Amino acid sequence: MKLHFSQNKPLKLLIDLIYPPRCPVCGQPAAVGLKICPECRRQLPLIESRRCRKCGKPVEDFEVLCPDCAKEDHFYDRGLGIYIYDETMKRAISELKYKGRREYGEVFGDLIYENARSELMDWKPDCLIPIPLHRARVRERGYNQAQIIAEALSEKCGIPTRADILIRTMETGRMKELSAKDRMNNMTCAFEAVGDRKGIRSVVLIDDIYTTGATIDAASVVLRRAGIDEIYFLAVCIGGGFMVSY
Ligand SMILES: [Zn+2]
Ligand SMILES: [Zn+2]
Repeated sequence: MKLHFSQNKPLKLLIDLIYPPRCPVCGQPAAVGLKICPECRRQLPLIESRRCRKCGKPVEDFEVLCPDCAKEDHFYDRGLGIYIYDETMKRAISELKYKGRREYGEVFGDLIYENARSELMDWKPDCLIPIPLHRARVRERGYNQAQIIAEALSEKCGIPTRADILIRTMETGRMKELSAKDRMNNMTCAFEAVGDRKGIRSVVLIDDIYTTGATIDAASVVLRRAGIDEIYFLAVCIGGGFMVSY
């Protein structure tokens, strides 16, 4: 049986007292009732500058689109990442993914909510869809970090998480050697839209990191083919670099 701690508040409180959630920045137990130390929170690399209208990457004041989006369009409508993927975020995300620190996913879900409330109000999505992992990977890791983030965000904003609409049918592995087009084809084959999509017109994809956008694009292609009209994304972090400058 799988226990849903988040739905059992007294149990969660008890577990938090015995195993206090750790702060994703300093790794120390956070103060009671907090998921992140206030001083650590201030160190997070929040993007406050002007953003690309499509992918949300930071751009210069005179730019509407970033160099990547100006060169090639994406398959989603628009989206953004909250933080720059710097050394602090890299460490925290890696602990969330590979060291079993699932509570960091909850912190990041809360932080997305605090920083993307107005986008969620504008977009009015019917549900949040975490970028799925292959089930072999979920078995090995114990959870999908994107789903933990999405569920924490759901709890704050009241928009349901639907992890049953998009599944990952294939492991994609390392694709660094592939061209952008091959990478995209590979990714598109890796996802499949399933489940009951009745009443779902607009969705927000949730992921931990957005880099080139290949994953979000591939998921968007699959969802659009399945009849979803509006597709947005929210990611905890966004890579600051651009493909075109490489
Ligand atoms: Zn801390
Ligand atoms: Zn862009």
